[in-house]
Amino acid sequence: MPLYTTQPLKIYNSLSGEKENFNPIHEGNVGMYVCGPTVYSNVHLGNVRTFMSFDVIFRYFLHLDYKVRYVRNITDVGHIVDDVDEGEDKIAKKARLEQLEPMEVVQRYTVDFHDILKSFNFLPPSIEPTATGHIIEQIEIIKKIIDTGIGYEANGSVYFDVVKYNETNNYGVLSGRNIEDMLANTRDLDGQSDKRNPQDFALWKKAEPQHIMRWPSPWSDGFPGWHLECTAMSTKYLGNHFDIHGGGMDLKFPHHECEIAQNEACTGQSPVNYWMHANMLTLNGKKMAKSTGNNILPGEILSGENTILSKAFSASVTRFFMLQAHYRSILDFSDDAIVAAEKGYKRLMEAVDALAGISVSATSSIDIESWKQLSYDAMNDDFNTPILIAQLFEAVRYINLLKEGKETISAEDLKTFTAAINAFVFDVLGLSDDKASDSNNDKLEGVVNMLIGMRNQARADKNFALSDQIRDQLIALGIQLKDGKEGTSFSI
Ligand SMILES: [Zn+2]
Repeated sequence: MPLYTTQPLKIYNSLSGEKENFNPIHEGNVGMYVCGPTVYSNVHLGNVRTFMSFDVIFRYFLHLDYKVRYVRNITDVGHIVDDVDEGEDKIAKKARLEQLEPMEVVQRYTVDFHDILKSFNFLPPSIEPTATGHIIEQIEIIKKIIDTGIGYEANGSVYFDVVKYNETNNYGVLSGRNIEDMLANTRDLDGQSDKRNPQDFALWKKAEPQHIMRWPSPWSDGFPGWHLECTAMSTKYLGNHFDIHGGGMDLKFPHHECEIAQNEACTGQSPVNYWMHANMLTLNGKKMAKSTGNNILPGEILSGENTILSKAFSASVTRFFMLQAHYRSILDFSDDAIVAAEKGYKRLMEAVDALAGISVSATSSIDIESWKQLSYDAMNDDFNTPILIAQLFEAVRYINLLKEGKETISAEDLKTFTAAINAFVFDVLGLSDDKASDSNNDKLEGVVNMLIGMRNQARADKNFALSDQIRDQLIALGIQLKDGKEGTSFSI
């Protein structure tokens, strides 16, 4: 029986503002779309936190035996500087500043994004579509929105008429804003814009002559609006109506609000059952952002090369630090906070290692089944990783008592306990054991030193065939021996 049948899950839905029972559209299947990065600069640690929140959500669905299609896009065109419709495309601007092809910028930062996520042990999404790979789909959606009378063309650009849409729908349903307030609080159009209303947003922008990224369309040579790409890519791979749409909290308005409007205008239905928003990471109490300079690069955590850090921290410690906060809470990064997280992480890993050495008894004095269910309850309550981590520290306490012989555990319970701890720590939270890789390095060093000793003995015995064989086979494995005055050393 799949695990999801016995573990009912609740998700906080930003649309209703409440925790709701999760009922997928197709039993046993989850369709999830998450807004990916705009690839015009290196990802900062705040981005890593956002994507990590959804990585754990993805992992938990998989753990519950759901079949998941997780789509996370790459925004490689159409995201205008300052998130407004007038201005320069972020990628085109970067390309101009650095005298690169826009696709060089895209390639460089897409590779960086993937490298970083891999180093933090993220699972890759099922599909990672790019906006430039879906221009035709975006043009088709624009045509449909124009046909309904809600999209209109002006000077080669196409806009979404928010006021007209709001006559039959509710623009602001997700963010809780209402259009009258929005209209009252904006300046009049300055006459330069082609928009009918200040709140209207671009579906298609005509490219200025100097604009490098452009595609032909029925309206002009130009490029699609940012909000449109997510509508095109989510519905293409998940259908017009799917389970979950996620993203950073800052995308709720206008990006996700506009996505709902585009879908409603195009298909007559709201696209998503559960909207999920991950909260931000602050740095020493202030918002972390590329534009303000108050940010830290993920690679700097791993190398320790940032003045706010007292030393380097591993990817697993960073992950553990982030998952100690619930994804909907703001988390503040500071050196003190990650130093504390490192201590907790080490305690947890020591206990996980100690599991193998625990001896069993005829009966258990600890209730493993209720511990396990409480751990599931934590995750079933809107993916509450801090409560799960508290449960794991309860397990650490049990393990220490078992080691000291103050509690007992049966063979069957120990098997259940070990399997559950491993599943939560490694599969669901996505942590890895740094000590295991460190100790593998120690073991490798021991083995190579042993071979060096055998080679020295062979040379002393004038068995040069054997000593050469040891050296050559190590070279074939990428291990170079260096003979010096102080003996033989090696490098990998
Ligand atoms: Zn998006």
